Amino acid sequence: MNPKFLIEHIADPVKVVKFGGSSLADAEHFRMVQSIVTAEESRRYVVPSAPGKRFKEDDKVTDLLYQCYEVSDDPAKLDEVFARVIERYELIIEGLGMELDLSEEYTKIKNSMENHAGRDYAASRGEYLNGIILAKLLGYHFLDPARVIRFAEDGSFDAELTNQMLGEKLSQHKRAVIPGFYGSMPNGTVKTFSRGGSDITGSIVARAANAAIYENWTDVSGFMMADPRIIDDPHTIEIITYRELRELSYMGATVLHEDAIFPVRLAGIPINIRNTNDPACDGTVIVPSTGIYDTKRIITGIAGKTGFSVINIEKDMMNSELGFGRRVLEVFEKLGISFEHLPSGVDTMGVVVNTRDIEPFRQRILDGIRASVSPDSLTIEDGLALIAVVGRGMVRTKGTAAKLFKACAEADVNIRMIDQGSSEFNIIIGVEEGDFIAAQKAIYNEFVK
Ligand code: ASP
Repeated sequence: MNPKFLIEHIADPVKVVKFGGSSLADAEHFRMVQSIVTAEESRRYVVPSAPGKRFKEDDKVTDLLYQCYEVSDDPAKLDEVFARVIERYELIIEGLGMELDLSEEYTKIKNSMENHAGRDYAASRGEYLNGIILAKLLGYHFLDPARVIRFAEDGSFDAELTNQMLGEKLSQHKRAVIPGFYGSMPNGTVKTFSRGGSDITGSIVARAANAAIYENWTDVSGFMMADPRIIDDPHTIEIITYRELRELSYMGATVLHEDAIFPVRLAGIPINIRNTNDPACDGTVIVPSTGIYDTKRIITGIAGKTGFSVINIEKDMMNSELGFGRRVLEVFEKLGISFEHLPSGVDTMGVVVNTRDIEPFRQRILDGIRASVSPDSLTIEDGLALIAVVGRGMVRTKGTAAKLFKACAEADVNIRMIDQGSSEFNIIIGVEEGDFIAAQKAIYNEFVK
């Protein structure tokens, strides 16, 4: 589906375009980015990441900068690692044939590192320097996010203050480059988001610019309907809602930083995931809600994760014992373990958790449950995999669950647990880890092929 339909009705649409590290790894990619940005008048605000890997064994500039921080007390080592950072930028500048002297910037950055400007400051310089180069190449204004993207005293992102300050600044510049990944604390020190955080900056800028669309340019053509390591050449998802995406990302399908969804979702702005290496491809569009963008498919995507355990509790007449569930869950809460699912029957209750989370506490969990609810039987089973089958198309389609179970049965997959969210666009099944791949193949073939 061509994403143009999303902005056709808008008179003077503004696009915010974010480019990931692999899209800005070398001069050749900078040229591709330049031609994408200049291809459309509306691509007015550009958010770059730091240069990523050029080949598999290469270093991301951000990783080199974290290394600089680690060795900042050892001048010889700092020199050595920082020289590799400088080399990356100089290769880009040279490859682009630009007249740009960053030597003062390099000196300032290195001095600040030596004077303990901090880990976040060091890491942020990757985006900062890339932003300077890109702004010059495009002839756009350079807007340092340290001035307008703000964190509160407790380190949390201050969405409203940022939206106001950034909005004001953007209204003064028709075209600007705003480096991703960082902002500043109330006292002015630089603070970064978590890794991959340029996606968040793009979303924040889109909201502040009141953009018609947030284009997120990366090195894949959007979200796949299934994990390509499991399904050969899966279809690309054309349109997905924020809620569907949340479900799929939670299960491990990642292209976009999770926190990048919130600012644009708040403002009802769609995100279009695009491929810098294949700009003709429409990619995936993430929309606030569908309705008008309906789907012919019943399911939108499949994602799964291994490494779960289920604590099975059985007790006669459990259903009439007031507070039973609460007492069981309290045991987990006190140990700081959050649960994933609670499949239950009349006299049985299961608590599905991450195996990793319960590892140090197995005996305490068993003892705690025995003490609080005196079950007739209590076991922990490991080796459970969860598979989420997500699709807004399921809500109005009868027989989805039947099809799903039939597909699994025919593939000789035993379903150990079922959980359908009340919103009806998500069915999660639990299977043995040994059936993880077979189950996903069977489901994909049944619904998609
Ligand atoms: N450069 C940062 C990182 O590698 C942020 C980003 O690329 O989004 O995590």
